[in-house]
Amino acid sequence: MSFFQLIFNFVARHRRHYLLAAAMLMSVGMLTVWIPRRVGHLVDELVAGHLTQTLIVQQLGILLLMGVAIYFLRVGWRMQLFVASYQLGVHLRTELYRRLCLQGPDFFQQQRTGDLMALGTNDADAIELAAGEAMLAGFDGTTTLLMVLAMMFLGVDWRLTVIALLPFPFMAYAFKRITQQVHDASHEALNCFSHLNDQVQESLAGVRTVRALGLESRNASQFAELAQKAADASLRAQRWEAAYEPAVGLALTTAGFLTLCLGGYFVWHAQMSIGALTSFTMYLGQLIWPMFAAGWVLSLIERGKAAWRRLGPILSLPLSIEDNGTIAAVPQGQLHISGVHFAYPEQAQAALKGVSITLQQGKTVGLVGPTGAGKSTLIRLLLRQYMPQQGTLSWGEHPLENYRIDNLRRHISWVAQEPFLFSASVAANIALGKPDATQAEIEQAAQLASVHDDILRFPQGYETPVGERGVTLSGGQRQRVAIARALLTNSPLLLLDDALSAVDTGTQTSILQHLRAARLGRSVLIVSHRLSAVADADHIVVLKHGAVTEQGTHAQLMALDGWYASQWRYQQLEASLDEI
Ligand code: ATP
Repeated sequence: MSFFQLIFNFVARHRRHYLLAAAMLMSVGMLTVWIPRRVGHLVDELVAGHLTQTLIVQQLGILLLMGVAIYFLRVGWRMQLFVASYQLGVHLRTELYRRLCLQGPDFFQQQRTGDLMALGTNDADAIELAAGEAMLAGFDGTTTLLMVLAMMFLGVDWRLTVIALLPFPFMAYAFKRITQQVHDASHEALNCFSHLNDQVQESLAGVRTVRALGLESRNASQFAELAQKAADASLRAQRWEAAYEPAVGLALTTAGFLTLCLGGYFVWHAQMSIGALTSFTMYLGQLIWPMFAAGWVLSLIERGKAAWRRLGPILSLPLSIEDNGTIAAVPQGQLHISGVHFAYPEQAQAALKGVSITLQQGKTVGLVGPTGAGKSTLIRLLLRQYMPQQGTLSWGEHPLENYRIDNLRRHISWVAQEPFLFSASVAANIALGKPDATQAEIEQAAQLASVHDDILRFPQGYETPVGERGVTLSGGQRQRVAIARALLTNSPLLLLDDALSAVDTGTQTSILQHLRAARLGRSVLIVSHRLSAVADADHIVVLKHGAVTEQGTHAQLMALDGWYASQWRYQQLEASLDEI
């Protein structure tokens, strides 16, 4: 969709506000052009000595009333337009947020957070201004221009009007040149702002690393450089916008000069009255606003177009995972992964090569293997963040893609390697997937995740705020809060992606014991580097370089004496050395 289509569709949708604004505007325009003509007549009658004192007072009273009416009408139509244009900002931001929520990880891999934030703030603002301020000035300027020109042409003297308008085509040409420059400069300014945003976002997110490595001054100078670039780009855009003013000034001064020369000639030769020339000069003065409005409108539209050039493609980018599934029923039955082959976009090396695993309903499967083997990738496929290039993943009778994505994800509890906590209380973080959970349910989930006692030691217990991303909690506490969150929803499938890596082995054992009791009849897939976390699983799968190399129960794998058995012995030895 083009920028003008966007604005047109929006105006059509909010036509009531825009029509009301236009009606008030027309009234303002008519009153505005009526006043100079009225003043012209008064001057002529004054010169002819036809005016009494009472008549003068009466006429001035009428002019004053007109002025007051113009004021209120202007306020009224601005209100109507802004009510509508703010809605465009709301619509764009909501749509951007909705699309971002639906996009998969490969989208976020290609986009930068600061850039996306800039789109929702600066760019959306620029488009909103085009639908509000630009429409306002454009409407107002055009109506005033047309009415003033009609009055000059038909009401005063058409010859004088033609002469006075001679400089305006030159002004239009200058506008065209300036407008292109404003567009390019605005686009660059928006890009620079995005880079600046990226830098702020990354520096703040990694502030601990920056400090630990003593990179503060290097980061500060990089930031200063970007800030300077952004300021320079904004200045360039402003400078080009400022160029509209001299073009308008020059055209109007030349028009005034031509009017005085020819108008003076007409008055001298009695072809025009002084009152008519007075009206004409007043009308010429009234052209100042439409001309400035034209410059302002063009610059706002160019800024809006430049912003839409950045925001539009993000809104129309196809979703990385299409949600064409229709099944809304609770998924049930065994989870079957069959011959799955998957390579990340633009990666030559496949992350999964012909993986087949079956997870019977109510059973626990352990997934282990060296780092980079493809364990988390398999979980991402189960969550439908990516689609495999070959093979199928099905739950019960149906392939995963036949389920509606929201339905599927609602019935999978996933605890990531590095869980994300929101800046809310501990209780709110646990209840994230079940906002109506009672305090007793929240505490029960925390007990199952062995974090209840830790929480009670916090200054405000369950109401303690966890800070942004849960900074006030230790890594192990964050993991256990995330496990409690997953357990509270009690969904049919629980995916633990190395979710116990930051807790000690004793706590891990007690969490796993609680899990076994609490999740009877529900399936669990545990990914872990620590083999003790999967030793009791019903089935264990070893992944190496994206392929299944060993599988069976703990006893079977020990008997096989492969990677699993050697890792097990190594980890047992390590644990016994730790105890010494
Ligand atoms: P770990 O135990 O260290 O978490 P893992 O077994 O979970 O490792 P994956 O994260 O699934 O391994 O990664 C499998 C392979 O895919 C690795 O070679 C990794 O570099 C690659 N990979 C992972 N994520 C991406 C991505 N977003 N884009 C491209 N390649 C990726």
